[in-house]
Amino acid sequence: MGTTQLSFGFDSAATDTCVPKRVGIRPTSSAEARPSSVSAGGSPRGEGARPLDERAQELRRTLASLCSRPIALTLTDNRRSMVVARRRGDALVLRLHHMFLEADPDTLRSLLTWVERHEPQAGVRVDAFVTVHRQLIRPRPSTAVLRLTPMGRFHDLRAILEQVACRYLEPEEWASLDVRISWGKRAPSRRRRSIQLGSYVREDRLIRVHRALDAEWVPRFFVEAVVYHELLHHQIPVECVNGRRRVHTPEFRVREALFERHADANAFERDHLGQLLRS
Ligand SMILES: [Zn+2]
Repeated sequence: MGTTQLSFGFDSAATDTCVPKRVGIRPTSSAEARPSSVSAGGSPRGEGARPLDERAQELRRTLASLCSRPIALTLTDNRRSMVVARRRGDALVLRLHHMFLEADPDTLRSLLTWVERHEPQAGVRVDAFVTVHRQLIRPRPSTAVLRLTPMGRFHDLRAILEQVACRYLEPEEWASLDVRISWGKRAPSRRRRSIQLGSYVREDRLIRVHRALDAEWVPRFFVEAVVYHELLHHQIPVECVNGRRRVHTPEFRVREALFERHADANAFERDHLGQLLRS
């Protein structure tokens, strides 16, 4: 076949996957690799005053001037594959995210060097361009607007989060902290077999705490311990060992044990599990 196929991807939707979250070369997903007849899809922003067609034509001309072979260019609004390149006969079939409308000739030269000769340095420069322009990647469609309710009847989660973060995070972590917190949805009271006291959703940067803990008989230090555990999930990246995700890494356990009433919290959970399951 003699077809070279490669792509740069930016996995903006990646959460706790083993795929590194950085921009990089990744296998092309079939849907995005398939050449299509769409010529300038998407909703390119920037340089808003100039018509898209004109900018696309200019990009075509610049690429043509930098490359000895004919180029068939398609602009995409992909969220994952920023660059897909294939050979078709003598021609180079290029599908580029519309962010490349903003690329200068040096970047485009690197891009062509990369797709033609796979020179690592050129790949690094294209990676850097994609990283800088990633705000042009259309966001993941949000399924629902998050309604946050951090203030409970007995415990104020925002105050607890601030206190825990201030006390246990490194100063630079604390300074750049970007996380949200809320009580979970109110579930009908029923007999449970298990209970998840807290959770952390990386995509939403959201810590949720089970409503059962918003009770007078639940001491504040226990809620703090749950919030601290989830805050560590926000701070500490997931490790991948032999292809398996590890969220409670050794570093995680060491830092978790720094919580002043760690032992008390474990004891409280053990002693009140039945009560929590019933609440
Ligand atoms: Zn955990």
